[in-house]
This record gives sequence, structure tokens and C-alpha cells, in this order.
Amino acid sequence: MMLMLPIAPLLLAMSLETVVCGYVALLLLGLLAVGWRSEQLRRRFGFSPSDDSVFRCDECGFVYTDDSDVDRSRCPQCGKANEAITF
Ligand SMILES: [Zn+2]
Repeated sequence: MMLMLPIAPLLLAMSLETVVCGYVALLLLGLLAVGWRSEQLRRRFGFSPSDDSVFRCDECGFVYTDDSDVDRSRCPQCGKANEAITF
């Protein structure tokens, strides 16, 4: 009975240390996951904001967008086909 007494706080301290270590490891993993996720989102939205081409009508001046794979797009206002604007 006298031998059990000093061991009890030691076991408690060890398990507390394990809990703290596990908590810190989980926290670091969470931070890593958040950092990795934000990097992914930044890459996805940073370099390709839109695939659409911008067109400006030569006839009426109307500015509109269309798919990037078309060379000429018809103006929705007057129907004239226009070239895409390159920036
Ligand atoms: Zn037009």
C-alpha cells in the first residue's frame, strides 16, 4: 500500500503528458491541414480567374464575354460578329 502511493501521481503525470502531446500534435496537424487547404484554394483561384474571353462590339460598343475556345462571338445587342479582346 505504501509503494502504490508514489506511483499514482507519476502515472497521472505521464498520462497528462500524453494527453498534452496528443493535443499539440492534433493542433499542428490541424494547422497543417488549414495551411494546405488555403494554398490549394489560392492556386485554384489565383492563376485562372476566368476562362472566358472578353468581346467588344465594333458596331454598338457593347462589351460581353463568351467561351475562350471561340475566335469570334456574335454581339447579343446587334448581332455583329466580333474578335476577342486580348489584354
Ligand atoms: Zn453590337
